[in-house]
Parts: sequence; structure tokens; C-alpha cells
Amino acid sequence: MNSAATKVAVVGSGISGAVCASTLARNGVPVTLFESARGPGGRMSQRRENTEDGKQLLFDHGAPFFSVSKSEVLSLVHEWESQGLVAEWKEKFGSFDFCTRKFTDMEQEGLSKRYVGVPGMNSICKALCNDNGVESKFGVSIGKIEWSDDEHLWSVMGLDGQILGQFTGIVASDKNIASPRFTEVSGRLPPLDMNLMPELSAKLRDLPIRPCFAVMLAFAEPLTSIPFKCFSIKNSNILRWAHCDSSKPGRSTHSERWVLHSTAEYAENIIAQTGLKKPSDTTLKKVADELFQEFQSTGLNKSQPFFKKAHRWGSAFPAASIAPVERCLCDRNKRLAICGDFCVSPNVEGAVDSGLAAASKLLESLSCL
Ligand SMILES: Cc1cc2nc3c(=O)[nH]c(=O)nc-3n(C[C@H](O)[C@H](O)[C@H](O)COP(=O)(O)OP(=O)(O)OC[C@H]3O[C@@H](n4cnc5c(N)ncnc54)[C@H](O)[C@@H]3O)c2cc1C
Repeated sequence: MNSAATKVAVVGSGISGAVCASTLARNGVPVTLFESARGPGGRMSQRRENTEDGKQLLFDHGAPFFSVSKSEVLSLVHEWESQGLVAEWKEKFGSFDFCTRKFTDMEQEGLSKRYVGVPGMNSICKALCNDNGVESKFGVSIGKIEWSDDEHLWSVMGLDGQILGQFTGIVASDKNIASPRFTEVSGRLPPLDMNLMPELSAKLRDLPIRPCFAVMLAFAEPLTSIPFKCFSIKNSNILRWAHCDSSKPGRSTHSERWVLHSTAEYAENIIAQTGLKKPSDTTLKKVADELFQEFQSTGLNKSQPFFKKAHRWGSAFPAASIAPVERCLCDRNKRLAICGDFCVSPNVEGAVDSGLAAASKLLESLSCL
């Protein structure tokens, strides 16, 4: 590999893109990472909110925690743990039955460990995006990725069509980069023209996705009447999960912060009424009120929050895995890899696994240069 001329663009700073970028860089391949959001993390982001009286509140409004079973992923998690980026969340979890208004399955010992990023879920991606050899550009949305048969290079362009660089290889870490869903959300053509790769295109085109709303709540006093800091909810049409963010290791305990997750059916129903474009403030307020009302009707809490806000995850969970064996999609000749949880399993572990596979496949094809 002629490493002086070799460079790779990674699109997306979620955990799959960040792991892939860092692995490539550690193997001597310089990486430029582009992320449309202001900061790293994707669905492992941390949300910063300011209250009217100037208080700053932080919420893990995407993945609240993760578990790991594969040894390759576990050894990375142990490395992050030793760097203080990850810690085990040792609270006991419960399961609440909305019909009987009682906690049912009390958790048994011996279940897999639950890990969280410290001080926020985004800490891992943040560190990986700052690794030596990774140049990260936030607030840059990629509008087009084009392959040149003459130069054997990829050109990466912003939304305005401006060329942001030419690269030997490319990693796309979001399914929307090559799916018609991108057009539904943005009104634009997807960045990657999949006619170039009809086989990969077919796999991405019909990927089913399940949405979710998260509602962030802050209370002045601890909700001492709730016996668990994280619990699933059964038999509610609206509410699926509740977790106390401020009970995780390394978080501020100045206020007690909870995050509620809706059921996918509830989110699908709201989206059916409002469409896939960015939800209005009125919609988000209605969702925040409805989810909080359901939380109150569990009978577990009577306190009112001083902060309440909803966020929509239009593509929270892929409902199929499109590359369970290969763990990523890859075109070796063009040095293109597509990775993300949708390749393996709809969780952090699946995304890490896919990012590692994409880096490994790309390193193999770069070694042939
Ligand atoms: C509400 C919720 C709860 C969850 N709960 C859990 C849980 O309990 N445990 C668990 O393990 N997992 C959970 N998950 C799933 C977990 O968060 C995801 O599986 C994982 O974070 C996916 O990572 P990824 O890198 O594949 O994708 P993403 O995190 O989605 O990263 C893709 C990135 O690409 C960027 N991007 C896309 N297009 C462009 C473009 N054109 N230009 C530039 N950047 C672009 C996006 O902004 C994004 O940052 C949850 C997710 C949600 C939303």
C-alpha cells in the first residue's frame, strides 16, 4: 500500500463509523471523517439543554446503555473501560406491567453487564474521532459521493456540490446514504448512486426501520417512590422504557433526569400523521405531554418535572440485519464499505462489530494497491 497517497473518507461519527475510522488510522491509513451533526455519537449522542433559568442539563437521549457478548467487541470495551470512557451501570433493572400496575420480573443476578459511556454515551465516539490519524469535520453533510473510473478515486461533495476531497477508499456508516428514505426525509437524491452497485443497492433498498420518541425529563428532587433506575414497560401502547440518566456513573446529580422511550407503534402512528420531515414544536410538545402522562398513570410518581422535551428518532432501530455473516457490505474493487448496526444487529454491539469488519475489509483491499 502506498500510504503517502492513500486516504479514506468515513461518513458518519456514530459508533460504527468512529470504530472504523479509528481502526483504519491505527493501521496507518489517514482518515477524514464527515459528520452532519454538530458533535459525534449518532444514536449514542448526548443532548445538551439549557433551562430558562440558565441551568445546563445533559441527557443520553439515544441508546441508554449497551451489553456485549462477542469477544472481539468485549476486548475493545475493556480497552475503553481502562481509559475511563466506559463504566458498568450497576443498578438493578425492573419490568413494569401496565395492566396490573406492578413490577413483575425482578431481575436475576448473572445477566450480562450493562455498560455506559462516561461522562455521557457519546464519550467513546468523541475519543475515537480524536484519535491520531483521524481528522474529524462536524456539521458537514455529505450530499454526493462519486466514483471516477479514470482516476480510480472517490470524490466527496457537500450538500452545495462543493468537492470536499478525493479519497482512495470510502466508508458509509448510515443506511440513508444509499436508500430512497433519504429522499423522503430530505427531498434530495441519496449521496451514493447505488446503480453503480446493484447488488448492494438491493440489500439496502427495502430495509425496514422502526422509529422511537425519547422524552427528556428533569426533576428538582429524586423520585424516591420508584424502586428501579431503569425499567421496561409491558402492556402500554405508548411507553416502552424509562431510565434515570442521572443514576449512571459519572453524571451530575444536581437534578434527577429521566428519559422515557415510546413504543415503535406509537412513533409510527405519529409519523403517519405528520410525515418524515423534521417534527414541529407542536408535535414534539404533544408527544412529551402524552408520554409523561402515561408515565404518571403508572402510579409510580407524583412529582412534576421542571424540564420536559421530546426528540424523534425517525430511524431508531433497523428491523432486519442485511449482512449477518460478512458484518458489512463491501465492494473491494472500488474500496467501498458500508457499515452500521443494520448489517449485524440493531444495537451498539452490532454497530461496533460492523465498523470493525468494514475497517478490516478496506485494509485488505488497500493492501492490494
Ligand atoms: C432511542 C434509542 C434507544 C436505543 N437503545 C439501545 C440500547 O439499549 N442498547 C443498545 O445496544 N443499542 C440501543 N440503541 C441502538 C444504538 O444506538 C445503535 O444501534 C447504534 O448507536 C448505531 O450506530 P451506527 O454507527 O450504526 O449508526 P448511527 O449512530 O445512526 O450513526 C450514523 C451517523 O451518520 C451520520 N450521517 C448520516 N448521513 C450523513 C451524511 N450524509 N453526511 C454526514 N453524516 C451523515 C449521522 O448523523 C449519524 O451520526 C438505541 C437507539 C435509540 C435511537
